[in-house]
Amino acid sequence: MGFARAHRPTLASVTDVVALLRAALGDAVSTIPAELDAARADRSGQRSSAAPVVIVTARNTEDVQATTRIASEHRIPVVTRGAGTGLAGGAIAGGGEIVLSTLAMNAILEINLDDELAVVQPGIINDDLNRALAEKGLWFAPDPASKAISTVGGNIATNAGGLLCAKYGVTREAVLGLKIVLADGRLLSLGHRTVKGVTGLDLTALVIGSEGTLGVIVEATLKLRSIPLGPVATIGAYFTSVEQAARASSVITASRLKPAAMELLDATALEGIGEYLGLELGGRGSYLLVQMDGPSAGIEADAAVAIIRSLGGDAELSTDPEEGERLFAIRRSFHPAMAARGTVLIEDVAVPRSQLPAMFEAIADIEVRFGIQIPTVAHAGDGNLHPNFVFEGADVPDNVWAAADELFLACLRLGGTLTGEHGVGILKKRWLGDELGTDQLELQKQIKLVFDPQGILNPGKVF
Ligand SMILES: Cc1cc2nc3c(=O)[nH]c(=O)nc-3n(C[C@H](O)[C@H](O)[C@H](O)COP(=O)(O)OP(=O)(O)OC[C@H]3O[C@@H](n4cnc5c(N)ncnc54)[C@H](O)[C@@H]3O)c2cc1C
Repeated sequence: MGFARAHRPTLASVTDVVALLRAALGDAVSTIPAELDAARADRSGQRSSAAPVVIVTARNTEDVQATTRIASEHRIPVVTRGAGTGLAGGAIAGGGEIVLSTLAMNAILEINLDDELAVVQPGIINDDLNRALAEKGLWFAPDPASKAISTVGGNIATNAGGLLCAKYGVTREAVLGLKIVLADGRLLSLGHRTVKGVTGLDLTALVIGSEGTLGVIVEATLKLRSIPLGPVATIGAYFTSVEQAARASSVITASRLKPAAMELLDATALEGIGEYLGLELGGRGSYLLVQMDGPSAGIEADAAVAIIRSLGGDAELSTDPEEGERLFAIRRSFHPAMAARGTVLIEDVAVPRSQLPAMFEAIADIEVRFGIQIPTVAHAGDGNLHPNFVFEGADVPDNVWAAADELFLACLRLGGTLTGEHGVGILKKRWLGDELGTDQLELQKQIKLVFDPQGILNPGKVF
């Protein structure tokens, strides 16, 4: 697929720019075809129609500044890339573009126990950071399912979520400050190291989730938490219908219980997982996984089991780590189970938690009308659903896009949002106006231009 680009450079200027980058950055610059080819895709299933011109693997902030200065002088688009695990096409680079990889900027610059914060470079892998923090009893809470393979910079640029968000917040709640390089090479220091801080507009929050369109994140000051104490309590519960399971999750939330994770799998998802794991899960209806942590885990789990049983669920509760892992493994197997069935388009919408049953009803209705199955997993604790479309071949079939279109509009009608955690990228920009409305969309475009007047940072993404 091709992308709209703000400024299409001439071939001569692109060649000149590669020479300029080499002169300024030496070994950090690569035009190896296999590396250029890899940057044409992320994990969204999308691929650009042509390879980018060059990849700069930045070693430090100065490399990022040199790259953006040269790009800016010659009006060449820059696509910033972390680990390339994104699901919205945000890190995909195309013809005439520079890829700026922050993957090698992966140092932990500081862990401050007194202030419960860490300062890191953007390329550090989420799990690697958490391994280092765990030695000190601390924790960076954002936990995308891709935490073993995605960078903290990518997590910040997409405002990543995960399984623990209802209790511990999304990435935005775990970032105090950022250093970013603007399109013209200027370095800005946003936010603060203090718990509070209201000086001026909150540009840190604006950059979080901006998908590489406003600046390149070169450093992040992260808010840490203590690792919760005590054993976790895990509940696995089967319900005859997904609406019933969704209702149970809504009642658990409304009862002011605070699950660390609350995940819901519908019948089609459960059936696929059963096939994948060789378990008899087909015909067991849908599955609700609830995990409580902290000192009151046991008491809260007993209360959740009582709610589940009162609403017709068949619940099993365990505080044994191995048994808990067995109950959790069903949820963890969702993505590999879907991937084993064919090509997967992983969708991502969020509704107010009270609207989860209605959203599942809407999905069931779309399945019937389009004659397709839409296996769905939901982070039920925060109302975030991942309806999956599984098909053969590389390209998303037209009827899948048509069904996805209806799904997005149904979610908006229920007071929801088009993306809970994966971002807009190239996949969802055509629906952006449906949620934001004309005036807000225009305002957002103007904000983008204030940061990046030439439109060279990740053009064609989000807007
Ligand atoms: C199996 C699987 C499970 C996943 N589960 C989750 C999940 O539970 N929750 C979730 O939220 N996501 C999930 N994702 C999606 C993805 O892992 C996240 O979006 C992640 O935050 C992307 O990080 P990355 O380093 O791979 O970024 P990339 O894919 O390289 O980039 C993503 C976006 O961030 C921008 N970007 C990257 N680095 C920077 C930087 N330094 N400065 C400015 N912009 C930058 C890019 O331009 C792009 O727009 C999953 C993906 C996979 C494959």
